[in-house]
Amino acid sequence: MSLQDLRSAIPGGRVLEVTTTTGCIVGCSYCPQDKFAARQRAVSHVKHLRLEDFKRCLARVPAAVDISFAGYSEPWLNPNCTEMVEHAYACGHDIRIFTTLVGMNGRDLRRLLALRFRVFVVHVFDDGAYMNSRLVRQKYFDLIRQLVDADISSIRFVVVGEVHPNIVEIVPAEALVRTSALSSRGGSVDPKMVEPRQSVVGALTCADERQYRNVLLPNGDVTLCCMDFERRHVLGNLLREKYEELFEGPIFCEIVDRMNGMEGFLLCRMCEFAEPKASC
Ligand code: SF4
Ligand code: SF4
Repeated sequence: MSLQDLRSAIPGGRVLEVTTTTGCIVGCSYCPQDKFAARQRAVSHVKHLRLEDFKRCLARVPAAVDISFAGYSEPWLNPNCTEMVEHAYACGHDIRIFTTLVGMNGRDLRRLLALRFRVFVVHVFDDGAYMNSRLVRQKYFDLIRQLVDADISSIRFVVVGEVHPNIVEIVPAEALVRTSALSSRGGSVDPKMVEPRQSVVGALTCADERQYRNVLLPNGDVTLCCMDFERRHVLGNLLREKYEELFEGPIFCEIVDRMNGMEGFLLCRMCEFAEPKASC
């Protein structure tokens, strides 16, 4: 399976991604999460999204919106992540998971296996080219074996580059997606690592309509999408506003106007998902 096949297999529709914590110890060298952490710490001292705040935010989100545990850090670095997943599931949301398994333990996994997932993607450790192999220990091997044995039909494993040699035998080849394609995350990744794309001029569209796949942060703020590590477009705050209001406020309206060609800063212009709109 290629990365393109994986993208096609991930359903569209509205999604709220959850960034459960500020800062990510996994520290993949192609990820600008340090920029996110610096920007986020400048506006909020809340490191972990609190369980009660997650519940308050979720109560404002219609059940038709999928909840995705992904965001700008490894979700299981927040000790309440499994409980958040269970709560969102019990509220009737479809659940998507993107995890490296770092921070998860066997008990978390057993609880997760009682649920059903729309998407379950494991970002597996590479051979040390981009990820820190010191996190690949016995506990990690046990967890990944347990996950493979559970035989979740929707599960996919993704690696950038080559799989870590000690897990290459564990991960089923037919469920593994290898990629070398890196995203500049709207120009946030070090340009020595990923050269930013040439800016898109004029009207544009987002290939996956990711302007409706927004990201909840630990303090309740909601950013535009998975590319907005630097908080360039904050739509509102779900601790104060309803989900629908995020799309009625001045920030989102301005984004739509700029996507339609209006002047002014727009993250999409530097993003690999943006496509120039054909003029008639
Ligand atoms: S890619 Fe994911 S796991 Fe790696 S540093 Fe970024 S947020 Fe953490
Ligand atoms: S084009 Fe890029 S930055 Fe704009 S909404 Fe889509 S994914 Fe986000």
